[in-house]
Amino acid sequence: MAKSSILGYPRIGKHRELKKAVEAVWSGKISEAELAQTASEIRKAAWDAQAAAGLDLIPANDFSYYDQVLDTICLTGLVPARYGAVGETVGLATYFAMARGNDEAPALELTKWFDTNYHYLVPEFDAGTPRLASSKIFDEYAEASAHLGRPAKPVLLGPVSFLLLGKHHTKSLDAHLNELLPVYETVLSRLGQAGAEWLQIDEPTLVQDRSAEELTLFKSAYARLTRVANRPKLMLQTYFESLDGNWETVIGLPVEGIGLDFVRTPENLMLLNRHGFPTNKVLGAGVVNGRNVWRINLEETLSQLEEIAGRVAPERIWVQSSCSLQHLPYDVEQEPELDAEIKPLLAFAEQRLSEIATLTRGLSAGRDAITSEIEANAAVFQTALDSTRIHHQPTQERMRLLDEAAFQRDAPFAERIAKQQRTLKLPPYPTTTIGSFPQTREVRSARARWLKGSLSDADYQAFIRERTAEVVQHQEQIGLDVLVHGEFERTDMVEFFADQLEGYLVTKNAWVQSYGSRCVRPPIIYGDVYRPNPMTVETITFAQSLSERPMKGMLTGPVTMLNWAFVREDRPRSEVANQIALALRDEVVDLERAGIKIIQIDEPALREGLPLRHGDWDEYLNWAVRAFRLASSGVQAVTQIHSHMCYSEFNDIIEAIEALDADVISIENSRSDSELLQAFTDHRYSRQIGPGVYDVHSEHVPETDVMERLLERASTVLDPAQIWVNPDCGLKTRGNAEVWPSLEHMVAAAQALRQQHQELAGV
Ligand code: GLN
Ligand code: ZN
Repeated sequence: MAKSSILGYPRIGKHRELKKAVEAVWSGKISEAELAQTASEIRKAAWDAQAAAGLDLIPANDFSYYDQVLDTICLTGLVPARYGAVGETVGLATYFAMARGNDEAPALELTKWFDTNYHYLVPEFDAGTPRLASSKIFDEYAEASAHLGRPAKPVLLGPVSFLLLGKHHTKSLDAHLNELLPVYETVLSRLGQAGAEWLQIDEPTLVQDRSAEELTLFKSAYARLTRVANRPKLMLQTYFESLDGNWETVIGLPVEGIGLDFVRTPENLMLLNRHGFPTNKVLGAGVVNGRNVWRINLEETLSQLEEIAGRVAPERIWVQSSCSLQHLPYDVEQEPELDAEIKPLLAFAEQRLSEIATLTRGLSAGRDAITSEIEANAAVFQTALDSTRIHHQPTQERMRLLDEAAFQRDAPFAERIAKQQRTLKLPPYPTTTIGSFPQTREVRSARARWLKGSLSDADYQAFIRERTAEVVQHQEQIGLDVLVHGEFERTDMVEFFADQLEGYLVTKNAWVQSYGSRCVRPPIIYGDVYRPNPMTVETITFAQSLSERPMKGMLTGPVTMLNWAFVREDRPRSEVANQIALALRDEVVDLERAGIKIIQIDEPALREGLPLRHGDWDEYLNWAVRAFRLASSGVQAVTQIHSHMCYSEFNDIIEAIEALDADVISIENSRSDSELLQAFTDHRYSRQIGPGVYDVHSEHVPETDVMERLLERASTVLDPAQIWVNPDCGLKTRGNAEVWPSLEHMVAAAQALRQQHQELAGV
């Protein structure tokens, strides 16, 4: 008989209980014991849901107070000295200090978990010699097994991925690994003693390009770990991509099970068909998507499983999710107002459990055992095929008629910028901001009251207009050259537009963890996307009416609108991106028609959408760039297009950035000055660019001369005529008390540079 399992369950609590409890501990409102109680309830609810669905192998230690990589840092005692001395085990105060920083030490670096929107804390391998310094995995294994009345399946990040995801390697990787392995050996042996039958050991870095030297690390690590006496069997788990060129190495490792992602691409199935599978291993068949929200097509997924069963005996198959369900919201039933036509198509974590159980039954007992489920599922998809909500003919027609001209601006950059300068008449080193101004308590409370119905539409609109007028006036006063309206009407840059576009659903409770206690609610793209009505024109033209200076129209770009959403799977992503681009193009053209001379189309998510394998980069960048161009090319040469990106690492994608053909880009730079200098020393960039000079992640007010230095250094690799002066990112999360003095310093720095520039030019 096949078995069923998942790789991990959401852990923030169905009503974000963990977020609330963790934040309450931080602010001293509850004790650590109360947090531990909440955490235990969340874990038990997860185990109960899986047991109720009939899952065979139920994970333990997939829970985390903050992040599973941070948990591994504690397990191995790799706590950097700046967080103070650590006793036998790492206490919660130190744990949260590493996550968030404290008065003495900044936090560990936070970075993206592969190509998901989850972020992990980066281990530092110069932190000392690894030693066992946490009992979390043993405690949660014991708790789960006692609760379930049978052994749970503990989950652990594997040693090689842990090593490769870290930084500050002061020795050879091999030497670091050799220090790490004794800790893992102890863990294996103690889990074995405690009765664990299997350990799911995650090695997701095996789906990336790996050098021969790195592959050797896996071989030596697993040769050693499998020699531990009385250990649990090892399910070596990979996810997010296929094994590709690493197949042979992985299949040859002496572990008892290998878990593969069969959802992301057809490649793992092709590899399986080509090479077969060892008869002494279990195959973890990840056939149910753990990171998107669409119900499986039962008939198709069962067929895929049957094909897999042609290579591996069913009793050696675990029917699984493709990755941990931590990337999904909890339960579709928590969305009472969800569109009745779309809801049956959706599966969140809880629905995934029954899908996996049904598939396992179908594989073990044969199709006939699940006929009624297959029929009901087919009916859902048939209804979807006929839905005019999903398939919007005019949008499809417009897509068919697209020609190359739609992806091209009217004139080349040099001609455009000259025309733009004649109308905009901006000084050298023009100053601007990225769009949002502080969303104060007052703004958030007005929105909350409006959503609850205690503030009328008219009063809320009036309130937003007052804030807008205030911020416009204030920007003029301090001497900014290009103004913004402040984005007070937006909670989130994607949700604001998703809410107004057809083809998108926004949810109320479908939270997923982004990092630590931060959760996001990605909208769901279910159908053809189009814009029924203008979205920003009224607000932007109102703001423009208050000033003679140019007001930037502010939009979220097509790639970001796609990458920060759950996307339909019945159409290629590139096509969905172009539909969104067309909707935005309509907005851009309307803004131009309404007299707006500068339009900024933000693409903070462009880089993070890069595929996990280098070989796939070009294809992605090609369609991503085309989507941006489709959104931005409907305007005349005289209209200036800006874009904003929240990072400075673009040495490796600079050609794509240039190909966006934006007249001006702004990027993050204040903390990563050297990367920028490197990028522009290596490549010539021909358009205009604002390297951020004000770190918006800190409450610190930067001094004028510090910003001057940054601008001077930028002026050594860029032509001064190319340079704009702006903060790193939007100011939404900052307070007015720091923002205004900082911007005044920024304007003063720009003036100083203008002066130098004029002296140099001999004016
Ligand atoms: N215009 C947005 C803002 O200023 C950009 C935010 C972002 O890049 N993430 O908030
Ligand atoms: Zn940004």
